[in-house]
Amino acid sequence: MDFSISPEIEALRRDIAAFVADEILPLESDPASYDAHENIAVEPLRRLRAKARDKGLWCLQLPEALGGRGIGRVGMAVCYEEMNRSIFGPVVFNSAAPDDGNMMVMAALGTPEQQDWWLRPIVEGKVRSAFAMTEPAPGGGSDPGMMQTRAMRDGDDYVVHGRKWFITGAGEAEHFLLLARTSDDARRGHTCFLFHRDDPGWQITRRIPIMGPEEHGGHCELVFDGLRIPSRNVVLGEGRGLKVVQTRLGVARLTHCMRWLGLAKRCVEIATEYAERREGFGIRLADRESVQIMLGTLCADIEVGRLLVMKAAWELDRGGFAQKEVSMAKVHVANLLHRAADTAIQINGARGYSKDTVAEWIYRYARQARLVDGADEVHRMILNRALAGEGRDFWRWDVAEAANA
Ligand SMILES: Cc1cc2nc3c(=O)[nH]c(=O)nc-3n(C[C@H](O)[C@H](O)[C@H](O)COP(=O)(O)OP(=O)(O)OC[C@H]3O[C@@H](n4cnc5c(N)ncnc54)[C@H](O)[C@@H]3O)c2cc1C
Repeated sequence: MDFSISPEIEALRRDIAAFVADEILPLESDPASYDAHENIAVEPLRRLRAKARDKGLWCLQLPEALGGRGIGRVGMAVCYEEMNRSIFGPVVFNSAAPDDGNMMVMAALGTPEQQDWWLRPIVEGKVRSAFAMTEPAPGGGSDPGMMQTRAMRDGDDYVVHGRKWFITGAGEAEHFLLLARTSDDARRGHTCFLFHRDDPGWQITRRIPIMGPEEHGGHCELVFDGLRIPSRNVVLGEGRGLKVVQTRLGVARLTHCMRWLGLAKRCVEIATEYAERREGFGIRLADRESVQIMLGTLCADIEVGRLLVMKAAWELDRGGFAQKEVSMAKVHVANLLHRAADTAIQINGARGYSKDTVAEWIYRYARQARLVDGADEVHRMILNRALAGEGRDFWRWDVAEAANA
């Protein structure tokens, strides 16, 4: 097994690290850098995005033919982690959720026409996007089989009625992916559509207030009351919606983990920096074994997360589905992020509870990680299903072909 990365990926990582250190981190301590929802404000974001693009640090996740750098999932694992050393990082490089997942799924499954009108403006940074799947009870949440939003065929169009909620970015997005039911078939009953913000027949009824900082455009509740979508805006074909979801969420869950690892490492930095200079009862915090154990445990947990993410990324890069690997990474890293922020706050004492560091920002943000893109319990259910099917083979090693085969 080879865990080395290519010189090209290492060069990108260094460029990202320098950009984050020089251009992005200094903004975090200036209240003027924040918008009303605790994300980077529009003006500094516009300026930094232009700079990142000029340096070729833009949409790295996409194939070169579509405006990216074609670095594969393993390269993304390295680069995304580096981007999210800053809470503002990923969006500056056009690698933040939900745009990155939306771009990747349309890069993989969109027709050339769909890529041209829907995907290209997002890649160019001209518009933002949203992915509308989850519904309030009794509709589809963890179980997409409960989806109630319907798209009824009407000539060459579909007409959509229903509700969605927690749709990240919807308040500012112009381009939407929408999951709706087109039949009651359990496997082929969902269809994925593209639509534009200006299409009539739907509205945002509220931006849902949440406990943590918000992505640009918030998390919104949407009502569809006759949105008309032409059949050319169906992704992959009628009834293939769950395939689109699988394609999108597999890698999107993993990119969350890649970014969260960057935030978890930042928490270690915040903890270490204070522990090294704070003294009490005659010694530095950094010299106390109890503090060393907290930090040592965190370091090991972060490395476990990186190995899980890398294995899943490697599996995706070689064409695998990586369902088990992604689920294990998602559960581990989501919980790790929460622990990392908690540890950073604890070691910083009252300072950790203040807004003098970003540990409290990360702490509030981290709570969503255990829910979004599949709650912990759902991923554990998936793992248990795999265990039931594979038995002891759950932990099999893949055997490489013999060198002289
Ligand atoms: C910040 C944030 C952003 C989001 N962004 C988007 C977005 O852009 N687009 C979108 O479509 N959705 C989005 N979501 C929705 C998210 O994907 C769902 O919250 C998630 O899939 C869980 O669905 P639910 O909230 O309906 O929970 P429910 O299905 O109501 O489940 C509630 C709880 O029940 C438990 N549970 C559920 N199933 C099982 C099981 N099989 N075994 C054991 N326990 C179980 C879990 O603890 C779960 O948290 C977002 C959510 C958050 C919090």
